[in-house]
Amino acid sequence: MLSVEDIEVRYGGITALHKVSIEVEEGETVLLIGANGAGKSSLINAVIGATQTCGGRIRFKGQDIGGLSADRRARAGIGYSPEGRKVFGTLSVADNVLSGAFGMGRRHQKEAFDWLSSVFPILAERAEQPAGQLSGGQQQIVAFARAMSSYPKLLLLDEPFLGLAPVWIQRISDAIREIQRRGTTILMTEQMARPALKLATRGYIMRGGEVRRSGSVADIGDAALVEEYL
Ligand code: ATP
Repeated sequence: MLSVEDIEVRYGGITALHKVSIEVEEGETVLLIGANGAGKSSLINAVIGATQTCGGRIRFKGQDIGGLSADRRARAGIGYSPEGRKVFGTLSVADNVLSGAFGMGRRHQKEAFDWLSSVFPILAERAEQPAGQLSGGQQQIVAFARAMSSYPKLLLLDEPFLGLAPVWIQRISDAIREIQRRGTTILMTEQMARPALKLATRGYIMRGGEVRRSGSVADIGDAALVEEYL
């Protein structure tokens, strides 16, 4: 479904990604694991079109999307939930969720909100409350729902467990399983190997802007735990 081939990302004089390649097949949950600064967010940002790449190729469902705007990539079926959640704090929970389906028509928006509220009841319970008043874990649910409101084929999750207490890591894991059950393909980044490995089918270990290892969760599990420790 997603094929990233030999891409480079540079910020001024810093090369954040050195010829990185990854593949995500339909129905998989693929994990990018690595410490701070490994290049995980740069890779996600390159896929959604928020960061320029030099060289290489990004294909989604067989189409080269490297030249498309972020908006066109979202419309093609790529959803994104950012690191640190980044909900609109003063907007209501409902408006936050529906901002992910902006421009899709009222009927789609109502259907999407009803569907997402049936999956995550807290959205209906807190629909009118400003999202900034919710706890970190609740905001993560809002961020997922916003990303899912356009019914993406591929969902990119950047560090969904960041800063969350263990009880919320468990709940967010359950939310990700629910998204998986609905047939969504997922590419997620994490520093916390243990809970992330329970959700993924395959993974890539990144360090210093490079992919150091890849394989099934069984193959890379121990190396991922070492990476987390380092
Ligand atoms: P984190 O978990 O901290 O987000 P990461 O694995 O996602 O880490 P990136 O955020 O992709 O890593 O960063 C990769 C490298 O690029 C780091 O050295 C970082 O300092 C640098 N970098 C990232 N964004 C920028 C930017 N906008 N300008 C300059 N350097 C940047």
